Amino acid sequence: MKFHAKLAAPSHKKIRLKDFDPAETYGYEKGHEKDDRDEALMAKTTARLDELQYMLYAEGKRSVLLVLQGMDTSGKDGTIRHVMSGASPQSCKVTSFKQPTSRELAHDFLWRIHKAVPEKGNIGIFNRSHYEDVLVVRVHKLVPKSVWSERYDEINRFDKYLTENGTTILKFFLHISKDEQKRRIEERIANPNKHWKLSEADLKEREFWDDYTEAYEDAIHNCNTKHAPWYIIPADHKWFRNLAVSRILVETLEKMDPKYPTPELDIARMKRLLK
Ligand code: AMP
Ligand code: MG
Repeated sequence: MKFHAKLAAPSHKKIRLKDFDPAETYGYEKGHEKDDRDEALMAKTTARLDELQYMLYAEGKRSVLLVLQGMDTSGKDGTIRHVMSGASPQSCKVTSFKQPTSRELAHDFLWRIHKAVPEKGNIGIFNRSHYEDVLVVRVHKLVPKSVWSERYDEINRFDKYLTENGTTILKFFLHISKDEQKRRIEERIANPNKHWKLSEADLKEREFWDDYTEAYEDAIHNCNTKHAPWYIIPADHKWFRNLAVSRILVETLEKMDPKYPTPELDIARMKRLLK
């Protein structure tokens, strides 16, 4: 299956997240007889990613940016850990966007984002992103509607500008159900090693689930452009979420088809000179 074709958010029509099953696995299974096959696919994908990342780095002309968004506990950190487990730290950079600092707030909302865009040859990952400025900011009315409503176009122009300058952008919405979020919070409460990940803010944000859902539907719909597509990743099953994001990244890199640069040096002469 081509994951990018299957999981690309539909363009043109308004998106209703309730029409997308967060537990979907498209026939892939884990813990059954097919377990081995799908484990092997993940291992193969990780190995292929390592190879392609190396070629992208060697080529040094283009970059890839993964944007990860999703409700609390949707697995943004886990996705980064698993998908990039085989990646070279030399050409991979993760940036997590938290509440803006006062210095960041003193600039336009894209200022801190632009500074973190991956350089040529690199893969960059955004754990949260400029999309927070039409999500949390909208839900909590941190700026008036007249301001956030303009941001969809501003983001589209920014995303387009980046792609025209050699950055391929992939945007992932990690789609979990409200029940699954409850299970994950319960799991964190029960496991002392996970307490550091808990905050009461998560419980507060959970009360705004419907508002966030609406804000995500609009962000995905308004900013699902050809140059910077959104993918809706069923994320109730962590293993499927990891597989899907990895596959889409590999499929994209294969389409980009990075090439080792042709050497400018004279190999025959090098051989002669080597004593
Ligand atoms: P975490 O991802 O759990 O570390 O939390 C980061 C927090 O920063 C989340 O609650 C986000 O909603 C918040 N955040 C990220 N970007 C922004 C932004 N542009 N404005 C306000 N809050 C933000
Ligand atoms: Mg959090």
